[in-house]
Amino acid sequence: MDQTIEESLDPQDWEAMRALGHRMVDDMMNYLQTVRERPVWQPMPERVKENMRKPLPVEPQSAENAYRDFVQDVLPYPLGNIHPRFWGWVMGNGTPFGVLAEMLAATMNPNLGGGNHVANNVELQVLDWCKEMLGFPLSASGILVSGGSMANFVGLAAARNTRAGFDIRRQGLPAAPKRLVLYGSVEMHSSIEKAVELLGLGRDALRMIPANEKYQIEVAALEKSIAEDRASGFLPFCLIGNAGTVNTGAIDPLNILADIAQREKMWFHVDGAFGALAAVSPELRPLLKGMERADSLAFDLHKWMYMPIEVGCVLVRDKDAHRNAFTLTPEYLAHFERGAAGGSHWFNEYGLQLTRGFRALKVWLSIKEHGIAKYGRVIKQNVDQCNYLTQLIQASPDLELLAPTSLNIVCFRFRAANRDDAMLNKLNEQIMMELHEQGIAVPTYTTLKGKFAIRVAHTNHRTRRADFDVLVRELIRIGQELSKS
Ligand SMILES: *Cc1c(COP(=O)(O)O)cnc(C)c1O
Repeated sequence: MDQTIEESLDPQDWEAMRALGHRMVDDMMNYLQTVRERPVWQPMPERVKENMRKPLPVEPQSAENAYRDFVQDVLPYPLGNIHPRFWGWVMGNGTPFGVLAEMLAATMNPNLGGGNHVANNVELQVLDWCKEMLGFPLSASGILVSGGSMANFVGLAAARNTRAGFDIRRQGLPAAPKRLVLYGSVEMHSSIEKAVELLGLGRDALRMIPANEKYQIEVAALEKSIAEDRASGFLPFCLIGNAGTVNTGAIDPLNILADIAQREKMWFHVDGAFGALAAVSPELRPLLKGMERADSLAFDLHKWMYMPIEVGCVLVRDKDAHRNAFTLTPEYLAHFERGAAGGSHWFNEYGLQLTRGFRALKVWLSIKEHGIAKYGRVIKQNVDQCNYLTQLIQASPDLELLAPTSLNIVCFRFRAANRDDAMLNKLNEQIMMELHEQGIAVPTYTTLKGKFAIRVAHTNHRTRRADFDVLVRELIRIGQELSKS
């Protein structure tokens, strides 16, 4: 190639790229507008799997052709979480304006690791709004992260590094005079265990306290465990409360846990991945009393705030504790008084990432679009809809509720005469897979006291009550058909 020709990745024909962009926006808005008309989920044909095993493209295939491949092979086979009848795991939907926000963020493509530019101010603004939403003081610190898992990791890292009682960042865990231990209920999310493992504490250090009938932590058992650990020479350094457990949506008695943490001089971390957002609804807020006393609070904006995946957040009450847990400034990251390397707040000092995307923009734009009152109403609507589903289940002789509905998670199963738990487990597993494969609805599952539970976790702003009518009707139909065969 001629050495004088310099290339870039910008289009040679800007008008063609603009036209393609307009078409993409039209297609995507149509796709979202008509989502209800499509099956929630459908299996991928072999052809599509085959097309995902092609060799590395060496020569250009054009943006138009790449987009055509996307429309043919990718777009029709989603997980389904944008659909009004998706209630699997805990997942949000996103919004049309959220889609456009992602385009704006990608256009500016800033790096929020640090520097002196407005995107950092947008994130600081969003963090202040989160504090206001959830009752944290404005003096608190925080950072947007990929999701609840990373938020839990950051919170527990701050807890460990602050409460170890020695310079754990320098010396590491082998220098610990006492083994560090922490507490939470058996209903904790697996991301807590992962964080504990990665922080080098060892999974055994995480004391799994039993839960009561409502799936909340047993306070007496917790206190006993702390006392025993102290007597054995361990250092209890952190207590974890659940604001909405992943299995059933249970909320631990957070005020009592905050008292215990205070008395025992332990860091109080709350995992509120979805449940914390109930505080956005004035009617639901009292359920979370005590959450605002946490030293660190992890939550997701991509679950019960319906933001495009990924965005989670952790708030840390003590700004210095947060920064001291992560700050490390080599020369090439030095901050200056003026210019682009200025700026008083560098997010890379508050988490694991250096290069960080503009996650904050979709949050900033979406909260402006709707106002927080509307989020509160839609969150409350989800809880009301779950109560409606619970009533449908209780009114049907074919269905059985398997856990009390405390927030936005409903666990139940189909029942049939003369079947033991093992047979019902198998039957309900089949029912769930049929619901998915027939494209009707996507609930998922959990196991409660050895019983396979069909689990509806509802963080879906598109669902109407009629969608739960469909779920119950079709589930009973499938259950009856399968029990005959
Ligand atoms: C989803 C969830 C997490 C993990 O959050 P991600 O955003 O999936 O990383 C942690 N805790 C609870 C209670 C959750 O529901």
